[in-house]
Amino acid sequence: MKIKRYLLLIILALWNLISVKAQNPIAAHFKDKLEKYLVKHPQVRDHIVVNDRGVYMFASLQEKRANKPEYVFSWQQVTLFKQLCSRAPQVARQLYLKNVPFNLPDSLKKTVRSHPTPLDTLPLRGVRIAIDPGHFAGDEKTARMEGRYIDITLANGTRVLFYESVLAWGTAKVLEKKLEAAGAKVLITRQKANLTALDMTFQQWYARYVRAQTSRGKRYLSPKQAFRQVLRAQDFKARVLKINAFQPDLTLIIHYNVDATNSPWQQPTNKNFAMAFVGGAFYQEELNTPEKRFQLLRLLITEDVEKSVRLSGHILQEHRRVLQVPTIEEPNQQSYLDKYCLYTGTKGVYTRNLSLSREIFGALCYGESLLQDNIQEIQQLNQKSFVIDKWYFPARVNQVAEAYYRGIKNYWLSTNR
Ligand SMILES: [Zn+2]
Repeated sequence: MKIKRYLLLIILALWNLISVKAQNPIAAHFKDKLEKYLVKHPQVRDHIVVNDRGVYMFASLQEKRANKPEYVFSWQQVTLFKQLCSRAPQVARQLYLKNVPFNLPDSLKKTVRSHPTPLDTLPLRGVRIAIDPGHFAGDEKTARMEGRYIDITLANGTRVLFYESVLAWGTAKVLEKKLEAAGAKVLITRQKANLTALDMTFQQWYARYVRAQTSRGKRYLSPKQAFRQVLRAQDFKARVLKINAFQPDLTLIIHYNVDATNSPWQQPTNKNFAMAFVGGAFYQEELNTPEKRFQLLRLLITEDVEKSVRLSGHILQEHRRVLQVPTIEEPNQQSYLDKYCLYTGTKGVYTRNLSLSREIFGALCYGESLLQDNIQEIQQLNQKSFVIDKWYFPARVNQVAEAYYRGIKNYWLSTNR
């Protein structure tokens, strides 16, 4: 009798093993992807359930417990959803927000985007590329308010002062020329080195804000508070709107980093490294609107994350070759990577839920090219080698643009030739 019972138990255990293995392979793929790239905090699982039938999105834990999904996505919709997101992601977004099942309108059925074959002379022929140079300060006062500047006096007594916003904009302008010469069509979100994406300086924006508040009989915030609580969100929104309206094939978000362990950046660091962010790594409280939950579903189902990881990998590789800037390794002491990001498995590339990496559709690379407070970089970045639109730039900016250019070209030709 005992042996019979053991046999039965063994058969049952085997059966369980087989049925786990026989799980819907699509569900298994998306479950793995969700954990690998998108879930940074356990609370994310209050809003999304992936099972054999599909993906269930929930507005809150209460709704999940009551089994009242906000949106039900079945596996039959995968291909259609991917087509819709590659042709008209705004339509997908609208359908989600209206809680209507995804469908491909007739008007979109024939709008497959095709690209002319790359030529040796025009490797990026017909490719649409958006560039977002980070920040907006063009003077010391604004840069201090924004908190994005380097002001260090070197051992030899030289005072070095420059702003990340200006470096990023100069990089974008040099890169624009290179990309256009290769046949690409380029959009830059900021017209000038000292403008926000709202096409005005911070001072112009603040004067307008104060007038508007006063005319409504409301109190207004100090410049720093207004920047943090009002302008920053408006500026990000303007960047996202411009880029998504342009419908780019790929987007670059250009930033320059500092060593987080060197705060408050009174002296140079010996460290130097590059890294890149792509969408993902949702944290606690970061799924509190239908908009954010749609973006989570979009990042899960489309291949925007995978494409972004590949693009970023190529760009970092060229940073090593052209700039001789190493890529950050795991583990490291940059605490924000551990706190907010997920390592993608591609050296130096992390998912991170920034408003730009979440809301811009398609492939993107949010690049952090080098450490501005590095002892060698600080001296190179302080040089005045060439002028664009009355602004001075160091030759190093040319090299950074070249690294981006080669990385983009390698990515594009490896996927489209
Ligand atoms: Zn930055």
